[in-house]
Amino acid sequence: MVLWYKTIQMHFNEEEYIMEKLAIFGGEPVRKEKIYYGRQWIGEDDVKAVAETLTGPYITCGPRVTALEQKLSEVTGAKYAVSVCNGTAALHCACIAAGLGPGDEVITTPLTFAASANCAVYVGATPVFADVNPETYNIDPASIEERITDKTKAVVAVDFTGQAVEHDRIREICDRHGLTLIIDAAHAIGTKYNGKPEGSLGDMTCFSFHPVKTITSGEGGAITTNDPELYRKLHLASQHGISHDVNEFVDKNPEGPWVYEMQTLGFNYRMTDFQAALLTSQLTKLQQFSDRRKAIVAKYNEAFKDMEEIFLQKEIPQSDTTRHLYIIRLNKDKLSCTRREFFDAMSTENVQCQVHYVPVYYFPFYQERGYKKGLCPNAEAIYEGIMSIPLYPMMTDEDVDTVIAAVKKIVEYYRK
Ligand SMILES: *Cc1c(COP(=O)(O)O)cnc(C)c1O
Repeated sequence: MVLWYKTIQMHFNEEEYIMEKLAIFGGEPVRKEKIYYGRQWIGEDDVKAVAETLTGPYITCGPRVTALEQKLSEVTGAKYAVSVCNGTAALHCACIAAGLGPGDEVITTPLTFAASANCAVYVGATPVFADVNPETYNIDPASIEERITDKTKAVVAVDFTGQAVEHDRIREICDRHGLTLIIDAAHAIGTKYNGKPEGSLGDMTCFSFHPVKTITSGEGGAITTNDPELYRKLHLASQHGISHDVNEFVDKNPEGPWVYEMQTLGFNYRMTDFQAALLTSQLTKLQQFSDRRKAIVAKYNEAFKDMEEIFLQKEIPQSDTTRHLYIIRLNKDKLSCTRREFFDAMSTENVQCQVHYVPVYYFPFYQERGYKKGLCPNAEAIYEGIMSIPLYPMMTDEDVDTVIAAVKKIVEYYRK
């Protein structure tokens, strides 16, 4: 009896649900307060770590930076880590350490934040865009291979949304052509590929600790590597090209303990000690944040798995992903609305989405330099239908449910 009653009740609710008016047409939004696609989670412990640093003797160039770099190399399984002031600086340093310059070509994906390509431009090299896999949205190794010329010197492969790229295939291509493999893991701290953490897989791996990323230092970044020579160059690039290692040059310059040498042209890309303290504290919660992100992703996957109106990003089995972004892609054959209409409807339901990303070469800077639309058809087609829905560890189960409700409500309204 009870079961029978419940079934009726459910059908009744479902009916009611279908009739619900979208907020954009004057209906009740699924939630009262706006939720955004990402946000940081700073706890009391983080605040304490920063406060202790601020009142201590070093607020930059101090022991917290050294401790952070030690911790980062433990977490990523890389021999060396260099902290810098943001992820863009990390990519710039990686291009400098790789010795890239004018005349060199660097292959990357267009479905990324502009910095993944801009880093090549910073050193006078030329970004070349390879297309992405239509299901995983990550750079397609076959397309990398197609774009290789005798000028190609490096690949910047982006772990898009946190999912690991196909490291084995990309590594093999890079080795065969003598290319430096730079991984842009701005989305992917905590992700593993075949059990190995991101950070230990490329020649150099770059991280960002911007507040929307999995862990944050406000602004911040790092490069990890297993190569001592790259490590030395990364250090110089990020610290004015200055070496304090007296052992390196004391014979040439035995003036006294104050000596240092500017050996190359570098930049001031240092992270402060209070940022390092914040990030070290955040790193202790990486596992917790990662678990929570995975739980939310599992809930979304379950809720959307039978919906023909939405495509979900496919996962390769090698990637144990700490997901930074959750992307839904509209199936325009099954929906009567545009992406813009869907996006605006989500926004008025108080679920603020974002689009990651406009293909990099669509931007005027690249258009003016001769990059033509049509270059990467898969990336362009994906861009047309995607939006990122909220995903961050501080979301409650109720938040997740309202996001799912908004997607379902809008899909049901616009279902063909
Ligand atoms: C965030 C991001 C960057 C740049 O990091 P910043 O810390 O903002 O400079 C680079 N690449 C990708 C893919 C990113 O998402």
